[in-house]
Amino acid sequence: MTAITNHMPTAELQALDAAHHLHPFTHGDALNKKGARVITRAKGVTLTDSEGHDYLDAMAGLWCVNIGYGREELADAAARQMKELPYYNTFFQTTHVPAIALADRLAQLTPYDLNHVFFASSGSEANDTNIRLVRTYWEQKGHPEKKAIISRKNAYHGSSMGSASLGGMSAMHAQGGMPIPDIHHIDQPYWYGEGKDTDPAEFGLERARQLEAKILELGEDKVAAFIGEPVQGAGGVIVAPDTYWPEIQRICKKYNILLIADEVICGFGRTGKWFGSETFDINPDVMTIAKGVSSGYAPLGGSLVSDEVAEVLNGCEFAHGYTYSGHPVTCAVALENLRILDEEGIVTRVGSETAPYLKEKWETLAAHPLVGEASVCGLMGSIALSPDKANRAKFAAEAGTAGLICREHCFSNGLIMRHVGDRMVISPPLVITKSEIDTLVERANIALDLAHKQLKDEGLMKAAS
Ligand SMILES: *Cc1c(COP(=O)(O)O)cnc(C)c1O
Repeated sequence: MTAITNHMPTAELQALDAAHHLHPFTHGDALNKKGARVITRAKGVTLTDSEGHDYLDAMAGLWCVNIGYGREELADAAARQMKELPYYNTFFQTTHVPAIALADRLAQLTPYDLNHVFFASSGSEANDTNIRLVRTYWEQKGHPEKKAIISRKNAYHGSSMGSASLGGMSAMHAQGGMPIPDIHHIDQPYWYGEGKDTDPAEFGLERARQLEAKILELGEDKVAAFIGEPVQGAGGVIVAPDTYWPEIQRICKKYNILLIADEVICGFGRTGKWFGSETFDINPDVMTIAKGVSSGYAPLGGSLVSDEVAEVLNGCEFAHGYTYSGHPVTCAVALENLRILDEEGIVTRVGSETAPYLKEKWETLAAHPLVGEASVCGLMGSIALSPDKANRAKFAAEAGTAGLICREHCFSNGLIMRHVGDRMVISPPLVITKSEIDTLVERANIALDLAHKQLKDEGLMKAAS
């Protein structure tokens, strides 16, 4: 048997991939017909494929490679830990140094009194933990009837049964018997797409007050928690109006329900501070982390909880856990990642330099005839494609048609920018430099020009009626 390596012809790798590999969130037949792009290596913000093409990865993988590619310190930390103690569990009244050290570091880094962490291997697992955790919390406090969790439409909280039920993605709910019981969804605070001619501040309040209405509808003695991303990531980088989060916070307090901030994308520097909760002045009882905590070099997730939640939870045996909760190699990698993000001032630089610079450059894209809005929060950005920008119109063509066309032009011009329907989104590594931001925006402009031309040529610049 010959080894499968980077040196095999691309077509052979693609054929083997098509034969044996089922891809997430992918139409298998469509992909297998054209063949997957084979990514072979990466350094800094740049990916290289099997044909030798370079791409500026403006998505940091899947919103996770905050520290950039190719940091040997993380590889060394993993190798050291694998040699010393590659695995041990934390179930049997046992622990180990990497888990202790990472828990301690996370308690220091997170705001307020989120001083306790339950480890998982992904954001999905952590949010599944959260469902059981908040319900167990209320059971312990003598309120087993407080079970309902309220989330938002178009939220993304993961892909397992529990976390995808928390999420509000209609395409996901359509498959496989979701959502699970006692999960409810209110509308998202997406002013550009749904605010019509209301004032954004007023709209933010209205959308937040749907939480209050939902609590009253379900009965305030029935609701365990509200969950939200400080900025909706996979939903299209949607930043709520300023009025939204303070009102959500007020309502959670008033009705005594736990607030879960899903910081899987916003955490670890993405918004220009360590956590989105700091940027938006949210004071959560539970915080979900994953992605940037290890910069994707090893799979890690977790649930941070407040002193009060931990105290209640510690009063029972929480019959929950994963084989890889607090995996020593993953924890060692995360610790090294957090050390570098901190000591090299990477998060600080996002807040003081690169995020303001990206904002200035990115917002120039709003002048493009295809762009209805261009917005930035920290080092995440989005643009809404529109056939009639003055009216924030949607396309008559099926949602995502224009977005996909634009994404393909990005790829052909050395830029990885994702589309969410007809919104284009970016979330580059936090180490991106100003000159790389210039390149990013130049390539985005070229792709927009080409997409605009193609949409015109194909008669697709038509607004939905
Ligand atoms: C990616 C994501 C998740 C799921 O994380 P996985 O590691 O893919 O399971 C959960 N919440 C948010 C906000 C995410 O962006």
